[in-house]
Order: sequence, then structure tokens, then C-alpha cells
Amino acid sequence: MNPEILPADISNRIAALYHEMQDAYDALAHNLAFSCTGCPDNCCDSYFQHHTYTEWAYLWEGLSALPREKKEYFIARATDYERESETMLAREQRPQIMCPINEGGLCALYPHRMMICRLHGVPAAMTRPDSKHLEFPGCFRCQELVAGRKTIARLDRTEMYQELVRIEMDWLGPKRRILPRVRMTLAEMIVKGPPGLNYRG
Ligand code: SF4
Ligand code: SF4
Repeated sequence: MNPEILPADISNRIAALYHEMQDAYDALAHNLAFSCTGCPDNCCDSYFQHHTYTEWAYLWEGLSALPREKKEYFIARATDYERESETMLAREQRPQIMCPINEGGLCALYPHRMMICRLHGVPAAMTRPDSKHLEFPGCFRCQELVAGRKTIARLDRTEMYQELVRIEMDWLGPKRRILPRVRMTLAEMIVKGPPGLNYRG
């Protein structure tokens, strides 16, 4: 852990939340008899953007702990990813490029991977602050598995998202109101370096 990137209490809270997500995911996957084993796909090439300084910083805690050569290797891959994805977005195509920290099909920063990497796959639901209820079907393989079932168990993301927002607020405090909104791919988070919070608008 690098205290210069994230205060220890915030780092511990995001780690605990990530574990909770993992446990909830595993329990539901077990209940559905669902697993990624033998999947012909690898969703690490999905295009996702992330929205909190906390996740950005926690990713960097993992990166910072790597040997320098390895870290530079991932930064170079993230730079390539960013260039390719910008080209595809300019053509109005949704990028489908392997995540820059996926090596040989595996996540090289598994304990520090993003929230969506921990939740994607199984059917899920959440209630937004405006009370709107949203449902997510899960990946194509899980959809095939549960097709035709009368009731489908879902992972409720509501509490988890709320806790992530609480952690973000507790860390940023009043700065949260003046800092730019985060809307970045993992590659962008790597290329930009750890979040600097001295933004003055
Ligand atoms: S989440 Fe679904 S699509 Fe992704 S690797 Fe697992 S089974 Fe395959
Ligand atoms: S962070 Fe890890 S799990 Fe998430 S997309 Fe990248 S390689 Fe895959």
C-alpha cells in the first residue's frame, strides 16, 4: 500500500468493499451454477469507463507496487490502448481492445481490479437515488444459462454503489465539489498517473 496515493483508512475501506462484491458475486454464481470456465470470450476487452477518484487511486496503489520495468510496460500498453480506442471512437465504433493489464488472459492486478470487473457477468439490479430501478442481464453466457427460468436471482448493487460513494465523499471532502468529474477508462487512469487532488478549477 502506498499512503501517498490513498490514506490507509480509505484504502482499507475500498479493499473491504471489493471483497464484499467478490463474495456476493461468488455466492450468486454458485447459486446459478455459473462460471467463466471454458468461456470462449474474455470480457477484459469490454469498453468501460470508471467514475471515482477512489478506484483510480486504488488501481495506482497496485501499479506502484510493481517493479519499475513492469509498471512502465503497463503504461506503454495503456498508451497504445488509449490511441487505438480514440481512433475507434472517432469512427463511432465502440472500442473492443484487450485491457492493458491483461496478460495471457489473466488480470495482472487482480486484487486492484475495478468494481465493474468484479460485478460483470451475473444478472444484477440496482435502485438509483431517484428511486429508478435498473436491471442488468449479465453476460451473454449467463443469459443463455438462465434463459427460460421463471425467476432469476440478481446481485443487488445498490448498497455497494452507495458505499463506494460514501468512501469517495469521505476521502475527497469539500474538494469533491470542485474536482472535475471522473469518466475514464482504466487505460486513461494509468496514462494520467495517480490522481492529483490539487485542482483549483
Ligand atoms: S463473465 Fe461471461 S463473457 Fe465474461 S468471461 Fe465470464 S462467462 Fe465469459
Ligand atoms: S482490470 Fe483486470 S479484470 Fe478488469 S478488465 Fe483489466 S485485466 Fe480484466
